[in-house]
Amino acid sequence: MSGATGGAVTRVPPVDLGRQYAEIRDAARDVFDRLATSGALTLGDELEAFEAEWAAYCGTGGAVGVASGTEALQLALIALGAGPGTEVVTVPHTFIATAEAIVASGASAVFVDVEADSASLDPAALAAALTPRTVAVVPVHLYGRPAAMPAIGEICGRAGVAVLEDASQAHGARLGERRVGALGRAAGFSFYPTKNLGALGDGGAVTSDDPALLATARSLRHHGSAPGDANRHVRDGFSARLDNLQAALLRLKLRRLDGWNDERRRLAMRYRERLAGLPVRPLPAPPDGVDQVHHLFVVELDERDRVLAALRARGVGAAVHYPTPVHLQPVWRERGHREGEFPVAERLAARVLSLPIFPGMTDAEQDHVVDALADAVAS
Ligand SMILES: *Cc1c(COP(=O)(O)O)cnc(C)c1O
Repeated sequence: MSGATGGAVTRVPPVDLGRQYAEIRDAARDVFDRLATSGALTLGDELEAFEAEWAAYCGTGGAVGVASGTEALQLALIALGAGPGTEVVTVPHTFIATAEAIVASGASAVFVDVEADSASLDPAALAAALTPRTVAVVPVHLYGRPAAMPAIGEICGRAGVAVLEDASQAHGARLGERRVGALGRAAGFSFYPTKNLGALGDGGAVTSDDPALLATARSLRHHGSAPGDANRHVRDGFSARLDNLQAALLRLKLRRLDGWNDERRRLAMRYRERLAGLPVRPLPAPPDGVDQVHHLFVVELDERDRVLAALRARGVGAAVHYPTPVHLQPVWRERGHREGEFPVAERLAARVLSLPIFPGMTDAEQDHVVDALADAVAS
């Protein structure tokens, strides 16, 4: 395996991007040389090719490359009609960007709690959160596991509300035969470097089957320009393109995504076996037909912060995703949110711990994590 280290393991990083880069290094250097020399750095052929390949991979009619995952969500929301006076529903147990994109669209964010097992949007709480002002619901496929899309889709379908997937942690995950990105009206992906498919910098994409939505996102990312006429501006837009260079690098990595996700699956299964008997609860595997891609491997446990400190002292790059639910962040408390509103999200925030998992991680590294965790929970 590319990242194998000789000798006893004393340190395990949370992720090691150098091991991924080693697999594409020669091709990446060629790409850099070619594009830097030609000067084709924005809105070029590589971007168009990546968009076609990403749409084909996800099984959607199209994809639009944008500058980040946050902007993918923001632009898709605007294309769906979000703006001042509208509401968009999402979860408090997610990265802040999900809620931030809603605010950036001009809409108000409305939170609903998550389920304890999937850590994703609880369909049972959804209907009560919809109002005549709701234009979209944004479930998050957190940690690489698809949210409860059939139930969410049914509730939203009945209410005439669009579903926008936050797919930033679930590149390649499947629900039956369909991939994440093709499970709602549209999806927003992040290609932040540490995601399952990551650029060497920031990037994102909107996927959808809806040509009008894709055209609006395409216009919004480039100053509100008209199709085929970059000097005609038909709406207020943004400077939010995916760089041609990042698109070219993403094309190289996309060919390896399935293999890398398989490595994550193998490591996750091995964690489950090796953690059995310890007083930690890996988040349960999803039901049959739901395939997850283990962006993170998350366990729930008592005394999380003490165990985290003990792991760090043993060189284990464990982390918490996320220690504070969105509604209890200072910026959201200012909008009137308080403790106790979303008990499941608040309980998870206090109890979850992410163990290192990344393509190229060795069994010896994983064993070091498990040994350190076993010692920490026993002390
Ligand atoms: C990473 C991430 C985002 C934001 O992506 P950026 O590319 O960093 O803007 C949004 N939502 C979730 C769930 C994420 O993990």
